[in-house]
Amino acid sequence: MKVRTRMAPSPTGEMHVGSLSISLKNYAFAKRHGGQFILRIEDTDKTREIENGVELIQDILKKYGITWDEGPGVGGDHGPYIQSQRLDMYKKYAEQLVSEKKAYYCFCTTERLEKLRDSQREQKIPPKYDSHCKSLSADEIKQRIESNEPHVIRLAVPQNREITFTDLIRGDISFNSSTVDDQVLLKSDGYPTYHMAVVVDDHLMDITHIMRGEEWISSTPKHILLYQAFGWELPQFAHIPVYLNPDGQGKMSKRKGHVSAQSFLDRGYLPEAMLNFFMILGWAREDEIEIMTLDEYVKAFDPKDVSQKSVVFDIKKLNWINGVYIRKLTVEQLLEKITPFLPNDFPTQKLSIILPLIHERLETLADIEQLTSFFYRDISVDTQLLLKKSSVTEVKQQLEATLSVLQAIEPKNWNVATIEIAVRELAEKNNWKPGQYFMMLRLAATGSKATPPLFDTLYVVGKELMLQRLAAALKLI
Ligand code: GLU
Repeated sequence: MKVRTRMAPSPTGEMHVGSLSISLKNYAFAKRHGGQFILRIEDTDKTREIENGVELIQDILKKYGITWDEGPGVGGDHGPYIQSQRLDMYKKYAEQLVSEKKAYYCFCTTERLEKLRDSQREQKIPPKYDSHCKSLSADEIKQRIESNEPHVIRLAVPQNREITFTDLIRGDISFNSSTVDDQVLLKSDGYPTYHMAVVVDDHLMDITHIMRGEEWISSTPKHILLYQAFGWELPQFAHIPVYLNPDGQGKMSKRKGHVSAQSFLDRGYLPEAMLNFFMILGWAREDEIEIMTLDEYVKAFDPKDVSQKSVVFDIKKLNWINGVYIRKLTVEQLLEKITPFLPNDFPTQKLSIILPLIHERLETLADIEQLTSFFYRDISVDTQLLLKKSSVTEVKQQLEATLSVLQAIEPKNWNVATIEIAVRELAEKNNWKPGQYFMMLRLAATGSKATPPLFDTLYVVGKELMLQRLAAALKLI
């Protein structure tokens, strides 16, 4: 069997990170088995569609390096890959089911359906269409269609049939067909419902494995009944748990923070690091390998290893992985990737000196601002910290003496080595405790306790600004 998987997003907005993660799994499974990964656009709900929705989907997958073998932009033998261009097919198949008496025309008005629902609610029974139009005579149907009465096509769901399917992640799942509604297949405007379009397309596109979010589990019985009505072979299903918000509460949602795949790129996460994070998150495997390439993942991915339970979108872990990937970049690569994240006031002429100093400490590309702002923005110094391990007299003396040795360095000799020799000699001569003195100097020079190595930092800040800052610190105490 040739494995064919698919991702079938609707063009309703920015792609959620959960969908991106599911795309990765479909991609990996197809590649692992030498098969194909198909991208299909499900745009049958025109009311929810956004203008550039189809482009957004393609762009974001490309940015993350997930390629598709068939679909918009690349073509293929099973097209078109955009559902709104396949309307004739859905109609044809829906009518085929009607002619086989497996589906029927329904003329019920919205008012009737609402009344029905209200009375079911009152009786506390689950809402379900009562198959009212299933028994209409052929003549009546013909006459009502000819007089252009609005109608839909519904599936004639068989009663009381026990149906079981095997979910590759969750195992056997059973349901009774009596719990399933005579669902609408074709709406009155001629558009198919999601259930109809997804089944027809997955069949016509020869999809063998459907891996999708767990929110579609409750739709699967409807799909299976449709496959059975058509007499089509069932694909395999795997329903992937949703991510929980980083605080562990509820399904990862916009209300609690960033969820779009694009927003993570905008905040300085590398696409490769994100993919790596998706690979290991919710992977119930023995080995605890955390850093892996896409190739390694493709070789290893098996849906049965996907955790059945929802997992927390662990930002700390993501930051750690992103840091690992940033450290793997050469300085040249980093330079290129970090450029869009430079604050407007960043001294770009100093970028190639500053970058190696903070490379190790970046967790996201956007961290550059917070890790470097003291190089080029006003600082504020906490006097209490400055005096923490010493007396006012000693700190004053230290600042005055440092000012004069730094002052004495000629601008052309202002480099890391000269600064280091001068400052160390001073400390030794005066018998200052290195821990206290160097920390005090760091604070006075940058306002921060954590900086790149001290002498590099003093050098990059520059002679003039350095002297100003030490003088300012002196005034503070
Ligand atoms: N169009 C559905 C979505 O937007 C696809 C669901 C499925 O994969 O069957 O998620």
